[in-house]
Amino acid sequence: MDMARRCEEILRRVPRGVTVVAAAKGRSAAEVREAIRAGITHIGENYVQEAEGKRRAVPEPATWHMIGPLQRNKARRALDTFDWIQTVDSLPLAEKLNGVLAQRGTTLPMLVQVNVGGEPQKAGVLPEAVPDFVRALARLPHLLVRGLMAIPPAPERPEDSRPHFRAMRRLFEALRAEGIPGVRMEILSMGMSQDWEIAVEEGATMVRLGTALFGPRP
Ligand SMILES: *Cc1c(COP(=O)(O)O)cnc(C)c1O
Repeated sequence: MDMARRCEEILRRVPRGVTVVAAAKGRSAAEVREAIRAGITHIGENYVQEAEGKRRAVPEPATWHMIGPLQRNKARRALDTFDWIQTVDSLPLAEKLNGVLAQRGTTLPMLVQVNVGGEPQKAGVLPEAVPDFVRALARLPHLLVRGLMAIPPAPERPEDSRPHFRAMRRLFEALRAEGIPGVRMEILSMGMSQDWEIAVEEGATMVRLGTALFGPRP
């Protein structure tokens, strides 16, 4: 099946209310443009530098999301390139982003990345630390907290991800119920090519798909 067909089929299968982000690391601007022509409207990138060039080479309108780890010294460039940042996971990074946004007189919608599996090598805030972290972000007026994002431990079988997705949903609902001023728990970004259907069953409102749309990574 070619890429346009894969994109169209996924977009048909994903329920209404769930946003598909095309995870485009390593894919060319031409591939991204083809995906957009097939109906994709959200693009995810892992590296600031790769995204800068690609976004300039993609004239079609789309919403661009940072989905990779972000270093503080790239915060300014990330804000030049991305519409959303899904990987905010430390207060120093958040304060840096908030400061640049304040200088510019703008705001940024963002997600908190959660290290749901508690993996030592992985980015993200540990689940038990998320409520305090979100309360701290709520005091930074230029960052608009809109939800949570997670990359569970690589599953052997799709079902392996279910308990992690379920834990994310519980955290998401608990934070929503807390009603922190300025915080809107609207987006739960979880699920990749292998396990996105399980993620949707467990309450994902956004899935990030690479190989399912673009085919095997080169
Ligand atoms: C690569 C990537 C994806 C998509 O991975 P696939 O398994 O190809 O669907 C999703 N999220 C993040 C953060 C990624 O880096």
